Amino acid sequence: MSSTLTHLECSFCGRILDANRLQNLCPDCQSPLLARYDLARVREAVTPAEIEHRPHGLWRWHELLPVSDPHCRLTLGEGGTPLIQAHRLAERVGLTTLYIKDEGLNPTGSFKARGMAVAVSRALELGARTLVTPTAGNAGGAMAAYAALAGLEAHVFMPRDAPLLNQLEVQMYGAHLTLVDGLINDAAQLAAAEAAKHNWFDVSTLKEPYRIEGKKTMGLELALHFAENGHWQLPDVVFYPTGGGVGLIGMWKAFDEMVALGWVEKRRPRLVVVQSDGCAPIVKAFEAHADSAQVWQNAHTIASGLRVPAVRGDRLVLRALRETGGTAIAVSDAEILEAQRLIAQLAGVFAAPEGAATYAGLVKLVQSGWIKPDERVLLYNTGTGMKYTHLLTPPS
Ligand SMILES: *Cc1c(COP(=O)(O)O)cnc(C)c1O
Ligand SMILES: [Zn+2]
Repeated sequence: MSSTLTHLECSFCGRILDANRLQNLCPDCQSPLLARYDLARVREAVTPAEIEHRPHGLWRWHELLPVSDPHCRLTLGEGGTPLIQAHRLAERVGLTTLYIKDEGLNPTGSFKARGMAVAVSRALELGARTLVTPTAGNAGGAMAAYAALAGLEAHVFMPRDAPLLNQLEVQMYGAHLTLVDGLINDAAQLAAAEAAKHNWFDVSTLKEPYRIEGKKTMGLELALHFAENGHWQLPDVVFYPTGGGVGLIGMWKAFDEMVALGWVEKRRPRLVVVQSDGCAPIVKAFEAHADSAQVWQNAHTIASGLRVPAVRGDRLVLRALRETGGTAIAVSDAEILEAQRLIAQLAGVFAAPEGAATYAGLVKLVQSGWIKPDERVLLYNTGTGMKYTHLLTPPS
């Protein structure tokens, strides 16, 4: 069966746009577009039990994804990542149960593969020939890998001081790499200018609608993991290391769609944004009860994926936090490194610093009483620590 995608909807002004051509931001208000589906058709087409019996991985959700032509559904084995029950880490922090969803096992070593698998597939289906993205690190490699599989030309703009492995992998996958003096927003400006000049398709964070759809599968998968007696369920709290916020927006959208489909109950997990205190625009906005975020000055953190000073999806992220009763918390680089070591030693997961930040945030919210000891808490480890060996001290 084909996708049930019907149209795109502006997340701010509500304008409806044609989903059958390449689109970037809303032409009226420059806000991100959200993909909308015919959920009644989805309900007729597939049952939760059928989905459960499909092969693991992202495309098992194809009715809720935007790609109709099966030949355009690119896959490198993304999604279907393990849910780890971290008993020792739970005990350490004072919880009954603690889960880690380990996205480090994705192709290219991060959950960016989910977003790019769908964005590149859909761009291919709609006839794009050349793709461009700015990146703080992992998005570039993921786009380059799927572009290589599809045979599309790819251009990546990355801060000069992004992790070396992120630079090398882009070139390994045959994409063109441009190093930029500055941060991801500077890289984004340059990428946008080049895209306009050469008519390349810009797949920057939230500038096209389908990376959200790919990352949405993180939320969909949770319902399967927590199913009891065939009834899909969700955990109580989900911690997410937030840079551009795509994954958080995606999960929130997944929960909404599953509630609308009647696949899960109305009660959705409280979403928790974790950022580094060297770049915490969402935390600052949340604490100020604002509905949008300011650009963060002098952004710095070892968690390169969190070094996103200007958050295009700020309104959506803040809405997701408020609507789910969630919160936002900042942690220091020192706390991130300590958490990374603890997660490795008590759970056997070599987490990316971004993923490790979630544990540091969890410690604070358990101490403050915001999390109760018997709640089912899930940490998203968004990438593998093996791409960040520059942060480690070599043995002497
Ligand atoms: C990009 C990235 C993030 C932040 O993801 P967003 O969805 O843009 O907030 C977190 N962790 C890692 C490893 C990343 O590469
Ligand atoms: Zn709009």
